[in-house]
Amino acid sequence: MQWLKQRSANERRPRKLSGDPTTLEVWKANGEHCAFCGKSRDLCQGLGIGLTIQHVQPVVFGGALDSPLIPFCARCQQMSTDALEETRRIEARISTLQDVIRRIEEKAPHLLAEESLDGPSAGWSS
Ligand SMILES: [Zn+2]
Repeated sequence: MQWLKQRSANERRPRKLSGDPTTLEVWKANGEHCAFCGKSRDLCQGLGIGLTIQHVQPVVFGGALDSPLIPFCARCQQMSTDALEETRRIEARISTLQDVIRRIEEKAPHLLAEESLDGPSAGWSS
């Protein structure tokens, strides 16, 4: 899958088009609170947490570049980035395992047969 490829944060981030609302405009238009954790802009600034914005549907998952923007504090932005990286790692691992299973199916299908999975050595029999 295309989005599994490792890319730098700058490449991943859509270029800001002229006429796009600024971060502060998006925060103001959405009640001055982080859409995820609910921290107010004042609280974020008091705590030294940066203000960011995100697309409602992330561009990496097919969201349009002009889709609505929501306020996100930098902490939630970081968490969502970490969660996205985790998803990518898991997807990559699943893909690797599927490749292994496909190779076993091709070269040693008997290893995947029902009897070898349900046999006494598996320890599932009652
Ligand atoms: Zn937040």
